[in-house]
Amino acid sequence: MSRELTPSELEAFPSLDWSDIAPRLTSALRSSLEKVLETQNGADLSLAESYALANSEGDDLLGLLVAANTLRAELAGNIVTYVVNRNINFTNICFVGCKFCAFSRGPREADTYFLTLGQMAQKAVEAWQLGATEVCIQGGLPRDLPKFHYRDILRAVKNAVPRMHIHAFSPMEIVYGVELTGMPLADYLSMLRDNGLGTLPGTAAEILDDQIRHILSANKLSTALWVEVIRTAHRCGIRTTSTLMYGHAETPAHWVRQMRLLREIQSETGGFTEFVPLGFVHQNTLLFHQGLARTGPTLAEHLKVHALARLLLAGSINNIQVSWVKLNRRLSQLCLHAGANDYGGTLMEENISREAGATAGQYTSPEDFQSLILEMGRIPAERNTTYSRINIKLPLTECTAEQSLEAEFA
Ligand code: SF4
Repeated sequence: MSRELTPSELEAFPSLDWSDIAPRLTSALRSSLEKVLETQNGADLSLAESYALANSEGDDLLGLLVAANTLRAELAGNIVTYVVNRNINFTNICFVGCKFCAFSRGPREADTYFLTLGQMAQKAVEAWQLGATEVCIQGGLPRDLPKFHYRDILRAVKNAVPRMHIHAFSPMEIVYGVELTGMPLADYLSMLRDNGLGTLPGTAAEILDDQIRHILSANKLSTALWVEVIRTAHRCGIRTTSTLMYGHAETPAHWVRQMRLLREIQSETGGFTEFVPLGFVHQNTLLFHQGLARTGPTLAEHLKVHALARLLLAGSINNIQVSWVKLNRRLSQLCLHAGANDYGGTLMEENISREAGATAGQYTSPEDFQSLILEMGRIPAERNTTYSRINIKLPLTECTAEQSLEAEFA
């Protein structure tokens, strides 16, 4: 019979091997896990098997975590990647009103801000000088934004730092840009690409189920529209990330359906670079204070979502990222033991999770990432946004971090 694991039992899972845990699993769950370990393809799991994995408890949950870690080692090796980047949240003024968001402000609130194009270009220059290869640009949606503002942001940043990769604009911002300009979606995305947009964050996905979306935000783009923006971006040659926000009003069945939907899109377009589970930070949100959400994810849920992603997305999306700003140091390491292989970005400044109550900080330096990864017995490596360049960083004991051994391969 399954039972709830204590936090210390859960935290001990990285010391288990598959051969330790396999004999303790229920037979149906064991055969599902053995199948995916053998084929290394999550497409071989039926919907019913996937639901069973998502609802696993006790020893079965430990089995899920160990299987995901085993599969991670086979599919992604022992390297843990990160990207040196800067977040630029260019305004906190927003009319959308998502109940899970503690970052946005109404236009007349006291602490609003709106960065000029010049200020954004300056931030990109500073980031480049500090070694960043990417700027991640997203913001609130203010009414009366100049029609071509998103294009003009790209021009300003590219003029200032031509080689900076611009990872920018959520699908919600893309839909707003289309509304502002009246351009067809594909033309609008192509225009952004031609003005320097490198990749698109697959944010604004939250849970891709319209009933849940309505609870989270009555004004957010629908599931169908999110999928249309992503598919069109991929067709225009703009790759994207993919995300899922967990720990609020959703159930494990929503995680499964979303991961299967992402697989379906990936099989058509091949445009996803990574999958990023985003734990809901509840403290300062309307969603929590109106009693519409639970108090964020439990430890078991954090680990389970990362492990499930590794198993269900195997053979489709190879990179599973931990969002360190929403997790603490130890938890992000545990999630990297539960199937994840990427630490995300250094960020330099991060406003969105901090406003919601996350305490992991605004910046993790490359050296911090390297020591966190080495502490886990894994190999740190800096990557670019699309994972097409990976530089292994192995500080030698007698050297300083600056003298680290760098091996570069494509
Ligand atoms: S999540 Fe984005 S769209 Fe929603 S309120 Fe916050 S800033 Fe606005």
